[in-house]
Amino acid sequence: MAERKVRVRFAPSPTGALHIGGVRTALYNYLFARQHGGDLIFRIEDTDSNRFVPGAEEYILESFKWLGIRFDEGVSFGGECGPYRQSERREIYKKYVQILLENGKAYIAFDTPEELDAKRAEIANFQYDASTRGMMRNSLTMPKEEVDALIAEGKQYVVRFKIEPNEDIHVNDLIRGEVVINSSILDDKVLYKSADELPTYHLANIVDDHLMEVSHVIRGEEWLPSAPLHVLLYRAFGWEDTMPEFAHLPLLLKPEGNGKLSKRDGDRLGFPVFPLEWHDPRSGE
Ligand code: GLU
Repeated sequence: MAERKVRVRFAPSPTGALHIGGVRTALYNYLFARQHGGDLIFRIEDTDSNRFVPGAEEYILESFKWLGIRFDEGVSFGGECGPYRQSERREIYKKYVQILLENGKAYIAFDTPEELDAKRAEIANFQYDASTRGMMRNSLTMPKEEVDALIAEGKQYVVRFKIEPNEDIHVNDLIRGEVVINSSILDDKVLYKSADELPTYHLANIVDDHLMEVSHVIRGEEWLPSAPLHVLLYRAFGWEDTMPEFAHLPLLLKPEGNGKLSKRDGDRLGFPVFPLEWHDPRSGE
């Protein structure tokens, strides 16, 4: 197989200031791209409107300008794989949600938050998965006519990934080595919500990595738990051949070594954890 062009991305969610951990992730992506004569992409992952913070995207861009980390394509830089802001890619994701539904890799679920809470109260450690989906209100348990009628009526639904149980999923991480997890511990993740017609992080993240021809996913270790799910999604689409290599960077820790470095640690010990001054529009801080 021909050598693949190195294409990496930094894909922040605009939820606030850029933490030093994010700066480090971006720096590693930047150095890796430069070392291999590859491309560095700047993608904004803003599909969770509840967590959107005005000004955060501008702040992140301003920080990279100040840091001297240059992007080759992405939001504000242009490029051929745009738009690079996920909220502007709705129609693209809808098409891929449809593909999963048609291939039986995903299903439609109508369970309301109240119904899910009731199940959680009834069943200890309830998880929406192969062991429980058969007793829930979804397109696997309901007749097709009823599903179609509810959708036509405008009832809200989500699309869930149908995860087959009892399978060991292998993730080859360039830093951590082989990570194996069993699919039974995963729940049938929500991939899409009709309420805002947007995908969740998981679907948008892998559809974009695929379409943007990302060769290596270099990101913080906090994203390692989602890697097995991402492997399964690549497989569900039949994209195994273009699956990126993963590299999960260890967390930046508190100086005491216990727990993730927070802004409070910086305040307490007198060093900045954000590259530029950040004014939080919610707290006014
Ligand atoms: N949007 C995620 C973040 O805010 C990106 C995770 C990833 O790089 O896959 O960090």
